[in-house]
Amino acid sequence: MKIAVIGTGYVGLVSGTCFAEWGHDVVCVDKNADKISRINNGQLPIYEPDLDILVARNREADRLSFTCDLASAITNAQVVFIAVGTPSRVGQGDADLSFVYMAAREMAPFLAEGAVVAVKSTVPVGTGDAVEKIIASVCRRGSFSVASNPEFLREGVAIGDFLKPDRVVIGAEDGRARAVMLALYREPLGSTPLVVTDRCTAELIKYAANAFLATKITFINELADLCERVGSNVGELALGIGLDKRIGNSFLNAGPGYGGSCFPKDTLALLRIAQDYGVVLRIVEETIVANEARKRKMALKVVDAVGGDVDGQTIAVLGLTFKPDTDDMREAPAVPLIETLQRYGATVRGYDPVGNENASCVLENVALVDDPYECARDADAVVVVTEWDSIRRIDLSRLRRVMRRPVLVDLRSAFEPGAASAAGFRVSTIGQRPER
Ligand code: NAD
Repeated sequence: MKIAVIGTGYVGLVSGTCFAEWGHDVVCVDKNADKISRINNGQLPIYEPDLDILVARNREADRLSFTCDLASAITNAQVVFIAVGTPSRVGQGDADLSFVYMAAREMAPFLAEGAVVAVKSTVPVGTGDAVEKIIASVCRRGSFSVASNPEFLREGVAIGDFLKPDRVVIGAEDGRARAVMLALYREPLGSTPLVVTDRCTAELIKYAANAFLATKITFINELADLCERVGSNVGELALGIGLDKRIGNSFLNAGPGYGGSCFPKDTLALLRIAQDYGVVLRIVEETIVANEARKRKMALKVVDAVGGDVDGQTIAVLGLTFKPDTDDMREAPAVPLIETLQRYGATVRGYDPVGNENASCVLENVALVDDPYECARDADAVVVVTEWDSIRRIDLSRLRRVMRRPVLVDLRSAFEPGAASAAGFRVSTIGQRPER
């Protein structure tokens, strides 16, 4: 099939590349000329493991190309994916759909007869209808279809998630959209469930999935607080409940609160959708409140670990991105943690294996260094915020030796129990009594 993907970010770039990997002819379009020229020069604008290999392979096979020229990309496409951003509207919380609507307006004059426009961006209920209306102001109704095809990939393991998803959700209102979308996924995915439904349900499935996962994280984080108080162990508690298949063991790692480009904005957007329809989603509401409070609490944990005052102290933060194996700093828990510590008077240094460049755009007055031991040199405390493998493998004795004081706050249970205290650290963890 001939496919165009509008938006070459984390979702568009991965999706377009994976469709090419399945043998389709794919053109990825972005308004950001710098992004496109970087890709065309063999440099990816995002860090995603193995994506560079797949992009190079499919470009070489002439199945994948990148352009700013929307018209040329759309003209022959049988399927056009919209994969542009849908950020939270500042101060409002609802999804800003201006990029989606602009993409629909811009593509409409060039759409081929019979083309299917598939919305991959995460969008509120009714967005597919609005996109259809925008295109219908230029194209004859019936000459095109609009489908919803929300994306569930996770940054860091995006290629595996796309090529071997748990399920694919297709929301369609007509036979053509259904048939084309099924043809796209059925063959490469074999027995993977394809959930075919109406457009509105498909749109809501994405928000429901993210809100559920955010709630699960928040649940275990609250239980972690209780574990700390009563002296039990949240890791073992998670194991004990997660082995129950009805609960499942994923998303039960207690930590500093969820972040990233999806959970914070999508939980807020779901709340706004529900409010618009006069429905109260109390659990989602409380999840958002609890997660916000948790970010502040993490800074207090650091203050506590150094003896009650960080004023004038140097704190080294290891791991800055919102999770390992991505360079994405959007809503990363490290940001509010660092800002709060700075407000309390601390000097903060940061280290991330790949996220320093993006971190430098969102953090002020933080020295970002390329080496964890340099980051920790003469520090009064080290805080592990993101559990990159390379951080898990740090030589704790060496780390301890370069520091001024032996304080380690491990917000991700990155180290084996007892390893840091054996290396001479005073350790503060999540969901356990402090190791001394
Ligand atoms: P992103 O910000 O990384 O990328 C969006 C891209 O779209 C940018 O490169 C931007 O320049 C481009 N763009 C915007 N308007 C355009 C237009 N009119 N024409 C051409 N290009 C345009 O965003 P992302 O993280 O890839 O997310 C995209 C969507 O997918 C969002 O709705 C998000 O919620 C959803 N989603 C994201 C993830 C994830 O892990 N990042 C996972 C699932 C779903």
